[in-house]
Amino acid sequence: MFAEVIVDIAAAEVDRVFDYGCGELDIKRGVRVTVPFGRMTVEGFVIGLKEHTDVPEGKLKDVISVLDARPIITEEMFGLLDYMVARMHLLKVDVLRLFIPAAMRGGRVRELTRQYARLSEAYRDRDPNEFIKKTALAQHELFEYLLTEKPEGELVSELTKVVSASALRNLAGRGIVEITDAEQMRLPYADVKAGEYVPVELTGEQKSAVVAITAAKGKTFVLHGVTGSGKTEVYMRCIEEALAAGRTAIMLVPEISLTPQVLRSFRSRFGDKVAVLHSALGQGEKFDEWRKCLSGEAKVVLGARSAVFAPLENVGIIIIDEEHDSSYISDRTPRYSTAEVAEWRIKYNGANLVLGSATPSVETYYAAKTGRYELLELTGRVNKRPLPEIEIVNMCREIALGNNSIFSAPLLRELDACLESGNQAMLFLNRRGYASFVMCRACGFVAKCERCDVSLVYHREENRLKCHYCGNMYSMLDVCPKCGSPFIREGYIGTEKVVRLLEEMYPGVGVLRMDNDSTRTKGAHARILGEFGEKKARILVGTQMIAKGHDFPDVTLVGILDADMSLHTADYRSVERTFQLTTQVAGRAGRASLPGKVVLQTYAPKHYVYEYVRTGDYKGFYEKEINLREVTKYPPFATIMRVLVSGSDDAKAGGVLKNIYERVVALKEKYPDKFIYLAYMRAPLKKIMDEYRMQILVRLTVGSDEIIDAVYGIVDECREPKVTSYAEINPVKLS
Ligand code: ADP
Ligand code: ZN
Ligand code: ZN
Repeated sequence: MFAEVIVDIAAAEVDRVFDYGCGELDIKRGVRVTVPFGRMTVEGFVIGLKEHTDVPEGKLKDVISVLDARPIITEEMFGLLDYMVARMHLLKVDVLRLFIPAAMRGGRVRELTRQYARLSEAYRDRDPNEFIKKTALAQHELFEYLLTEKPEGELVSELTKVVSASALRNLAGRGIVEITDAEQMRLPYADVKAGEYVPVELTGEQKSAVVAITAAKGKTFVLHGVTGSGKTEVYMRCIEEALAAGRTAIMLVPEISLTPQVLRSFRSRFGDKVAVLHSALGQGEKFDEWRKCLSGEAKVVLGARSAVFAPLENVGIIIIDEEHDSSYISDRTPRYSTAEVAEWRIKYNGANLVLGSATPSVETYYAAKTGRYELLELTGRVNKRPLPEIEIVNMCREIALGNNSIFSAPLLRELDACLESGNQAMLFLNRRGYASFVMCRACGFVAKCERCDVSLVYHREENRLKCHYCGNMYSMLDVCPKCGSPFIREGYIGTEKVVRLLEEMYPGVGVLRMDNDSTRTKGAHARILGEFGEKKARILVGTQMIAKGHDFPDVTLVGILDADMSLHTADYRSVERTFQLTTQVAGRAGRASLPGKVVLQTYAPKHYVYEYVRTGDYKGFYEKEINLREVTKYPPFATIMRVLVSGSDDAKAGGVLKNIYERVVALKEKYPDKFIYLAYMRAPLKKIMDEYRMQILVRLTVGSDEIIDAVYGIVDECREPKVTSYAEINPVKLS
């Protein structure tokens, strides 16, 4: 027998099958092995077995050892591997790595075994006085405890908390107590206990949605409904139905919205059948939860993006909540779209996919409108609560009236009223740090990172300038390094400064901040939300991190300090993103019995997007946007392909870019009607971490798959050492 092995080295040159002899080893398809590779020993994945090999006798080497007792790559995942390699143009090894917990590679995580103690059979029914001295009170106590309290045995570590360790040693030494090793599964969020599950009567719309989804096979649904319209209830019913039919389920949420609340309702509903998979788990926890899926013990997986690869068998339903969220597109190697992977899996299993959102992406909604997906709608909120009133504030007018601050007069009026009535407020600003840049008033010098082509952000707590791309820190400027002037001006204000201003204006009310800086440590995220939930603070300031997640019943005011931030990015999705983000943030206000109010500050109050946000008119927004996309030929009426080339040697990277470009031009000459646009240029971020970045932008007509494949091929052919290049389709970030 010969094993076909993909070695665990991420390099295009070695991303192919190598044959190895099996020797005496029992090797199955889907296990990992160690093999000799050149002068090294490396891990590899066995992707097949065969009777014959073309490798000549003398050259063939044998597998050294087998790392897994059972296959860890299922047959379904092998199918997915082929699909992802062909369709997304990924390395096999990169895809295989997605399928297993990262720490399994290199044996960095293993099963947790613990010692258990129990009374030996031979002594269990005897009178302890026969073999324990009367004076050995601790031993008697231990015997009694194990006999009456823990007849099944107890963890040694727990036992020694209540009884004497030396008594345990003594009885174990004499064979009266047996100590055995047993595996213990690590349980993430052990403190999140299931609450009582009270079934609710579904509304008519919810019922039809559940019926449609459960009756289908291999179909994708779009579930559109505002926050609070009962989408989650629909998801859970569909999962129940899948389980009742003997199948399994995967529910994906954006990374940040996997809160204890969501998990609690899943545990209440599905008990021990739930596994959690997301990046905040410890390596050991992740490993155990993943194995629970593989062994079939877990039937429902709740997780973030990568949980779409959970090794469940017989998947009946996959749900992607907040499907428009950009975290579902992996924007680093390996690049993949979660929805595409999910679609492949539901087709394979004859299952169904539900894409849920209050603000579906324009492309998804278009697919639903044109029949590729099926549209299901929940038209109102379950409890008929009205959506919050949204006031659009013209910041240009504020300036004209002499108010240069980040807080408009209407916002301050609302904030006063909110705090006076004992309620809470959330203020949203998608800019962390204290000031977005520092500039010399005399000569216009702006402090920039030495390694990246971006301006530095001032962080006041550390009194340092930080680069948000590479993390480099610099001292704050006292004088301009260029002209020596001491007059340094701070640029746009960030969350840190907003908090300081609020603390000055409203002493004693408590202001919390939630952004990438304040949530760096494990558990910080939950702690901040917890404190706000307990009303230890009355104002929460945050970046888009506060746009999702918890519901706070006492939040009656939401302030969007600078709504235009996402509007002015040079990206065809900028208006869509602005609509989604502001709608989502606005939805945080007035979630319980209290009415909500939203103040949205903008310098472009006439922009059409804000009128749709104000009236909560998703369909109106969609119609406007889809017409624009059609006229200007952007997705879904075109496919954008970007080739990004980067390298520390500007000229060398430029050479690779030129080579690729010339070949794409030749392709365009051959298929002129497929190309809408083709150009090369420096990337908007010209340099990051000492790497110069440049790009080729291609816009193709729909159905140009052969051109896409050809461009992927060209990028591969033009590879050169020390230059990184990759192609991506409809990228979420064009920076
Ligand atoms: P969404 O996911 O669309 O934001 P949820 O499913 O979380 O909405 O529902 C919002 C609230 O309404 C939740 O507290 C939920 O328990 C409740 N709810 C959902 N469906 C019903 C129903 N049919 N009857 C009563 N309450 C419901
Ligand atoms: Zn200067
Ligand atoms: Zn930098």
